[in-house]
Amino acid sequence: MRLCSLLASATFVVIFLSLWRGRREQLHNVHWAASLLLYCVALAGLEWINRPEDVLIRSLLVAALTASNIPLSTGVRLFAGRPLWRWWMSVPPAVTLIGFLLPSIVGVLGMPMPPQSEQLLAAFGLALGMGTFGADVIRQAARAVPDGYGGRIAGIALLAYIPCYLFAIAGDILHLATPSTLAVVALLSDQLLLMLLNVGLLAMPAEAALAAMRESAWRDGLTGVYNRAWLAQVHSGFLQPGTWLAHIDIDHFKSVNDRFGHAVGDATLVALARTLVTATLNSEFEFAAKVVRMGGDEFLIIMPNASLLKAQRLVQNARKAVSDLGPFDWTVSIGLTEVLADDTALSNAVDRADQQLYAAKLAGRDRVAA
Ligand code: GH3
Ligand code: MG
Repeated sequence: MRLCSLLASATFVVIFLSLWRGRREQLHNVHWAASLLLYCVALAGLEWINRPEDVLIRSLLVAALTASNIPLSTGVRLFAGRPLWRWWMSVPPAVTLIGFLLPSIVGVLGMPMPPQSEQLLAAFGLALGMGTFGADVIRQAARAVPDGYGGRIAGIALLAYIPCYLFAIAGDILHLATPSTLAVVALLSDQLLLMLLNVGLLAMPAEAALAAMRESAWRDGLTGVYNRAWLAQVHSGFLQPGTWLAHIDIDHFKSVNDRFGHAVGDATLVALARTLVTATLNSEFEFAAKVVRMGGDEFLIIMPNASLLKAQRLVQNARKAVSDLGPFDWTVSIGLTEVLADDTALSNAVDRADQQLYAAKLAGRDRVAA
């Protein structure tokens, strides 16, 4: 059974190293492979070195078993862009080492401890390691991939080792089952949790890549603000009275392109997008207002839980900021509207904002129509 754990771990080592060979910059795979390698070495060592006089090397091997969680955690931290080393990471292996050695040290001093106390104390260190690193993996994975499950599953698998250890120890002390049955339960749960842990880790980069792709598919390539594809995805969430829309269009933008060239036109669009985002961040909407590039020189600001006064304040601020931008004089026209109770789709309100924008253009441009 222990051989099965060794083989399963070795298989995942090969998988992680192969993934790293394909993409050298993905160093988290090396950390995870190192974690499994250390686990294999410690497991194999404990199998082969089992004489009572080898207590020092056995305690080092048990400590290595706990320490094998360190590269697992640092791999997830690397992935999340967090600092790799933290002082508390050394505590569980140290506790495991001291726990395993303590009965022998105390025994030498002439104070014998109860039988199997080294296993008990070492198991406490191992459980402490699983708890500490499991919690860290869950926390860092949530940072790295907020909507992902892989890292959380890996962390939960680590935490799930704790009741397995407790059962094995309690079973031994309270004679709940024969030692061989307890060993089988421990090794079977290792088989299951090892799979869960490593499949969870494998899923993490795929989930992150998917999230990054989704994010980039929802962003406008030139200005970085949201695009129509994003709006099509989330529009129903804004379909409620109290949401205000501002449709913004640059006045005589064609002439900017004609007079100064397309590159300056592009820079103007980027500057406008940045100004609009800044206006939403500086307003009382606090990140709730969203900026969308609808196409060409047209932008939409969505302001949830707003009022005419708040919405007007935001767009007037944006308009003023645009007039200060330079390097040449340019202005925007803005159409403002609220989502109404009888709007069946957000596009109804977008159309109304468009009509208001048209009215602002007709009225002489460089103004807000509501
Ligand atoms: P109006 O005041 O009536 O809005 O006049 P306008 O010249 O701004 O007219 P309109 O809004 O219809 O013009 C949009 C122009 O924006 C047409 C196109 O050349 C230009 N445009 C669209 N997309 C881009 C882009 O990505 N970069 C640049 N530089 N120009 C773009
Ligand atoms: Mg225009």
